[in-house]
Amino acid sequence: MTSERDRRRTLRDSYKAERKRDEWNVLGIDRELLDDLLDHVEERLAVTGCDHTLRHSRTWADSHSVAWSALEAGLQAGGGSCDCEVLANVDPDEKA
Ligand SMILES: [Zn+2]
Repeated sequence: MTSERDRRRTLRDSYKAERKRDEWNVLGIDRELLDDLLDHVEERLAVTGCDHTLRHSRTWADSHSVAWSALEAGLQAGGGSCDCEVLANVDPDEKA
């Protein structure tokens, strides 16, 4: 038996799943690549700090044959307008 509450929860969950899919699509890279990117950015930031640009993300993209213009747009759409914000904001699986 499906209660009204269960029905609403199902709707909400499918909405969230859809939004998460959209965020991954906008980002344009998969879980494995994003983990690699975040590892790289975290390592570089530990050494140099953030200079309020996406330079470490860009270096990573260049060395992984990922189109920078598309990735840059995806990162910014996810709230990552510099390297430290990439670490803090862009992971779709970390969002509520
Ligand atoms: Zn920053």
